[in-house]
Amino acid sequence: MNALISDDGLQCPEPPHATAHRRVNDHSRGEHATAIIYPVVARRSHGLSLGINLFPARKICTYNCPYCEVHPFANEVDDLQAGMVEQALRHFFEHEWPQMASVMPLKDICISGNGEPTCSPVLEDALQACDRVLRELEARDTAWGKVPVVLITNATGFLKPEIKAMLARYAASMRLEIWAKLDGGTQELHGMLSGSAYRFEDIVHGITSFAREHPLTIQTMVCRDSRSGRLLFDLEEYAAVIRHMWAQGAQLTAIQLYTLARPPVESWVEGLEDAAMRQLGRALADQLSDVQISCYGRYQELEMEPAGSPMDSAWQS
Ligand code: SF4
Repeated sequence: MNALISDDGLQCPEPPHATAHRRVNDHSRGEHATAIIYPVVARRSHGLSLGINLFPARKICTYNCPYCEVHPFANEVDDLQAGMVEQALRHFFEHEWPQMASVMPLKDICISGNGEPTCSPVLEDALQACDRVLRELEARDTAWGKVPVVLITNATGFLKPEIKAMLARYAASMRLEIWAKLDGGTQELHGMLSGSAYRFEDIVHGITSFAREHPLTIQTMVCRDSRSGRLLFDLEEYAAVIRHMWAQGAQLTAIQLYTLARPPVESWVEGLEDAAMRQLGRALADQLSDVQISCYGRYQELEMEPAGSPMDSAWQS
């Protein structure tokens, strides 16, 4: 049976048109692994999200996270060129969305895919394409005015002035939400989790500097090293970093704690059970009462433990 893909790797009920969706032979959009756009049922979007993959040919990223769920690959397709995302979006909304619309609403258009979007030379072109297409849809139906474009980034782009300025322009001129990665809470954990030489304090500074002008959401992976059982997240240090960012004027709309949903690149990375995630979310919320914290387990968004619940610190063991 065919199925829409969920971001958890789950099989989700498929609308009848979905087979046709995949059959469309549009080389600019590609098929399956080479798709430029792909509808997914996303935990963190709370529904259907239209993904835009800027890297159909191969994974390109400034990090090398051991928990990454994009395994190295090579497809025999060309890198994206300007205009291809817009062509793919128009094709989708004209030919496929009319059948899909009755199944579930579209929550967002999400630019992420097989790597770090700010590494792509067509990111700005893709943002413009999303903006144009959404404005046209909104002119026909005002409900589209609620659909944002979400850019999921590992935050290294904030360290490049030209990327930071470009994102700031679009954050100010369109419905662009930026979800920025911040893991671990210390230099040591950040180094381990990003597999990079980027300094944690530079990443924190980059996010803070951007978020002074444009609110953003923080995304934080919580996982364990199965070889030692160590939790790769320092709650106290992380909370202190977030408070420091606030003190510096960062506008943090929300924090999303999530754990592994699919097999990681490194087999020693282990996700947390739901009970541990619930407790961890509560413990963080107790430390950071001024920000909305959401918790995502492997399959779904989780209710955090209620305030004042007795806790056995399940996440620590
Ligand atoms: S930043 Fe994202 S795409 Fe890049 S290695 Fe990490 S998890 Fe993978």
